[in-house]
Amino acid sequence: MVSLSKEYYFEHKQWIKKNDIQKIIKGKYNLHSQTIQAISDKFDANRKTISELRKKGNTKAKYPYKTKKFYIIPFKASAININAKGNLKLSMSKGRYLELDFNIENIKTAEIVWRNGYYLYYTFDDGIINPTPQGNNTVGVDLGEIHSIASITNEGIGLIISNREGRSIKQFRNKMYAYISKRLSRCKKGSRQYKRLWKLKNTIRTKTDNQLINLYHQTTRKFINFCVEQQVCEIVLGDIKGIEKNTKKKKRLNRINRQKISQMEYGRIKDYIKYKAKEKGIEVKLVKENYTSQTCPKCSKKHKPTGRTYSCTCGYKTHRDIVGAWNILNKKHKYNLVNFSINHKQPINLKVSTI
Ligand SMILES: [Zn+2]
Repeated sequence: MVSLSKEYYFEHKQWIKKNDIQKIIKGKYNLHSQTIQAISDKFDANRKTISELRKKGNTKAKYPYKTKKFYIIPFKASAININAKGNLKLSMSKGRYLELDFNIENIKTAEIVWRNGYYLYYTFDDGIINPTPQGNNTVGVDLGEIHSIASITNEGIGLIISNREGRSIKQFRNKMYAYISKRLSRCKKGSRQYKRLWKLKNTIRTKTDNQLINLYHQTTRKFINFCVEQQVCEIVLGDIKGIEKNTKKKKRLNRINRQKISQMEYGRIKDYIKYKAKEKGIEVKLVKENYTSQTCPKCSKKHKPTGRTYSCTCGYKTHRDIVGAWNILNKKHKYNLVNFSINHKQPINLKVSTI
């Protein structure tokens, strides 16, 4: 499609029409006609967006020009069927099917995506209409690097989920990255060894990323189950937007900053909590995190905790991340301090594999 429309433009000085693309391409590839239609729809939408952007003066916006080795293969509902075994059967073209060994109830769309391996991305109708929460409790959440989730309800029931797995996945990745860049620096650019190392790097990135995605899904699922158990109708999250900018000056702070998770992970966990909460009718609110980890819940004095336990001069002691979560909750609501009962959990029994 890219080279076709390029040729057409050079010859006619105007865009090839979407229907003409479809006519020329029809029957040329082993793809379902609906799939070809979906791809040309995407191509057409893309060039329209770029055109709009360029009209607004964004000269960096580029029309599709690269030819890709692999393109997302989208399937519309009519190309998604079920085989005799009750599993998914996707129509590629006349008489060619992709049969999978599982089924998804109420599937709406599917895409095959290449990310260092073939993946099936799908959407489905979960059938949930206007979910309502079970009670009126609220919960405060502190997201962090040591414990991905530290949370406490207004009734003082706490859940802490460890991020040990997350840290060891990242440690493994960093170790491999360091090893690869050391080897790369001694390689001739473009050599066989050079290409092999780049491929390895990509594999490690994809694998560790998938492991982290899985881990954070499990983590947030455990947390949402806890919210349902505790009859929560509102989750209050600390908003760390804009804090984590590691300029060189701030690098010295890194040892303290280790407490904090990266912007990307924060966004990911936040998104997972948001959509999982929505399924249960639970609201998610954000509050600024200022001083929430330092303020004593009992006497409101501020001081920086050292170690895992927060202990104040007034004699108050509790888990440091729970202090953060309680203060975050109380930025939104004002509750009287209650006794805490805290439960520790691992997200999953996941072994970090070496590749
Ligand atoms: Zn105190």
